[in-house]
Amino acid sequence: MRVITHTLGCRVNHYESQLIRERLSGLPGAGEVHVVNTCAVTSLAARKGRKLVRKLRREHPRALIVAVGCQATDSPGELRAAGADLVIPNRDKARIRELVLAHLRGEAVGGEGWPALAEERIARDTEQIRANLKVQDGCSVACSFCKTWQVRGPLRSKPPDVAREEAECLAAAGHPELVVAGINLAQYGEDLPGRPSLVDLLRELLRVPRVRIRLSSLNPEGVTGELISLFADERRLCPYLHVPLQSGDDRVLARMGRPYTAAEYADRVGRFLEAVPKATFGADVMVGFPGEDEAAFRRTCSLLEELAPLRLHVFPFSPRPGTPAAALPDQVPPAVKRERATALDELARALSLRVRRGFLGEVLWPVLEERAGGMWRGHAENYIILSLPSDGLARGTILPVRVTEVRDDITVGVIEDNQDI
Ligand code: SF4
Repeated sequence: MRVITHTLGCRVNHYESQLIRERLSGLPGAGEVHVVNTCAVTSLAARKGRKLVRKLRREHPRALIVAVGCQATDSPGELRAAGADLVIPNRDKARIRELVLAHLRGEAVGGEGWPALAEERIARDTEQIRANLKVQDGCSVACSFCKTWQVRGPLRSKPPDVAREEAECLAAAGHPELVVAGINLAQYGEDLPGRPSLVDLLRELLRVPRVRIRLSSLNPEGVTGELISLFADERRLCPYLHVPLQSGDDRVLARMGRPYTAAEYADRVGRFLEAVPKATFGADVMVGFPGEDEAAFRRTCSLLEELAPLRLHVFPFSPRPGTPAAALPDQVPPAVKRERATALDELARALSLRVRRGFLGEVLWPVLEERAGGMWRGHAENYIILSLPSDGLARGTILPVRVTEVRDDITVGVIEDNQDI
C-alpha cells in the first residue's frame, strides 16, 4: 500500500511521522493509507486536524484514513466523526503497523503500556535535510494552559548511547544537522538510571563526527550554567536556543504554572547570549492569558526589547477545555488579545531586523535546504535564514557565507572565498 503522512504540530510529531513512514513501509496490499499526525496544542490546531481528516475523506473515499497523535489521544471521537477509519493514541503510535494490519483484517487490538523511547528509532528523515532526533517525551510540569502534558504520557528519555547510535545512522544517511527534540527537554534524563543530564546527552552526541547539533525548544530551567559553557566551547553546537517565555510578568507566569520568574528568564537567556559567540535566541509568548492587564503586557514587551529575540512566536490565549486555565477568572476580551498579538508581531519584526543587522559583514554557515528563484536558502548555525544567489551547489552542503544585505523579509549573503576563517 502507498503510505502518505500529513503532519501538524511540533518537531516531535515530525520525527514520529518519519517513524510511522518507516514502520508502515512495504505494507501489503493495494490502495492508499493517509496518516494524519495531529496536534492539540491550541483549539486552532485541533480544528485543523478535523478539517484535514474531512478533506482527505472527501478526496480519497476508498483510502484508509488513520488519525494519530495528540488530538487523537485527546478527542478520538471528533476525528472518527470527521471520517477517520482508525484513531491511534500517542501511547500506541509506535505500534502503528500492527494496529493497521489488525484493522485491515477486521480485528481490534487492545492497547499496551507506553513504549520505552529506546524502541523509537529512525534511519533517516525523508522530508527534512536537518533531521529531527527525538530524545524525550512527556512532561510533568503541568502548565495550566497546556493540553500536551495530558496526552503525552509519563516522562521518558532515550538513553544517551541509544540516541548516539541513532545520530550515527542519521549522519551516515547524509544529514548534516540533527535537531534534538523532546516535549520538555529540560526534563531530559530524569527517568533514566543515573539521571544523565541534557549536557551529558549532548556530549555523547558530539562523539558523532561531521554533523552539527541543534537543540529545539528548551524551557528556561534547562538553560543551565553547564549547558551555556558547553555551547560556548563547542563549535558544532548551533548557537541558537528557542526558549519559551510565555509572559514577562511574574503574576501571569505563576498563574500559568511556569516554574521561573521573568528575571530568571532574562538572566539565563542573557548569559547564553553573552557567553556564546554569534548566539541568537527565539521565544514563544502567549498574549491575553487570564489576568494579563496592560501593565503585565507592557512588562512582556520590555523584557523582549531588552533581550531582542531573532524569532518570536505569538499566540493569543485560547481556553482549552479540560485545562485549569480555561476556568480562571479575569478572561481577556478577544479584541484586546488581537490588539496585543498585533503589537507583539510588529515588535517581533523590528527586533528580528535589529538582530540580523548586527550580523552584517559577518560570516555565517548555512546549510543549503531549498532552491527557488535562482537563490539557495538555508538556516545558519544561529538560525538566521540566509539567501544566496548561486548555482551548482548540493542540498545539504554547509558553507561559509558573508552577510551582505538585511531586509525586513530576507537576509542575503555571498559565498566567502577566504577559506581560512
Ligand atoms: S512545560 Fe508546560 S507547556 Fe511545555 S509541555 Fe510541559 S506542561 Fe506543556
